[in-house]
Amino acid sequence: MTRLILATRNAGKITELRAILAEAGLPHDLVGADAHPDIPDVKETGVTFAENALLKAHALAKATGLPAVADDSGLCVDVLNGAPGIFSARWAGRHGDDKANLDLLLAQLADIDDAHRGAHFACAAALALPDGTDRVVEGRLRGTLRHAPSGTNGFGYDPILQPEGETRTCAELTPGEKNAISHRGKAFRALVPVVRELLG
Ligand code: IMP
Repeated sequence: MTRLILATRNAGKITELRAILAEAGLPHDLVGADAHPDIPDVKETGVTFAENALLKAHALAKATGLPAVADDSGLCVDVLNGAPGIFSARWAGRHGDDKANLDLLLAQLADIDDAHRGAHFACAAALALPDGTDRVVEGRLRGTLRHAPSGTNGFGYDPILQPEGETRTCAELTPGEKNAISHRGKAFRALVPVVRELLG
């Protein structure tokens, strides 16, 4: 069985990708970055989700000698020409301050009416092999932005993105409902044929 490593310490992401690989009948042993605690932190110097996912996957493949998967994601707002985009995690200035990021975005969009509040979550997922071979795939979840947060599930901008065809925000969906339609779920599922092609 081929061992694959995923560039995350987030148990939810590991479980999600493991289930997708298993469902596709791919007998791969997926471990998280915690399995190799000595891995160096990677600077996300890319200017696209794909570039950052590739940077992280290559660094992990090189450090571990294992085929590595990495993802990078964010929220892209139409009226902001795709921002916050790669800056989603630090839009308000401090990395990972979800509430400040969301509050700032809502304030910036305060005067924008419903017809112009389109946005999508985007995710790039990259697979890199220790020999330098790589592939990158992408997934999107399209929706509109609410004027106020609603719901307590999920993280980040989930309380303000209402997916197309839904009456609830992402933070009002169950984790299973969100995974089924999410940008990350789509990108991870798009990785299945890539894993099959490169790793058999
Ligand atoms: P990461 O690439 O998974 O670390 O995500 C970067 C940032 O994008 C997060 O800190 C969130 O602000 C935002 N983001 C990415 N995916 C989601 C999502 O599924 N829901 C809400 N926010 C997200």
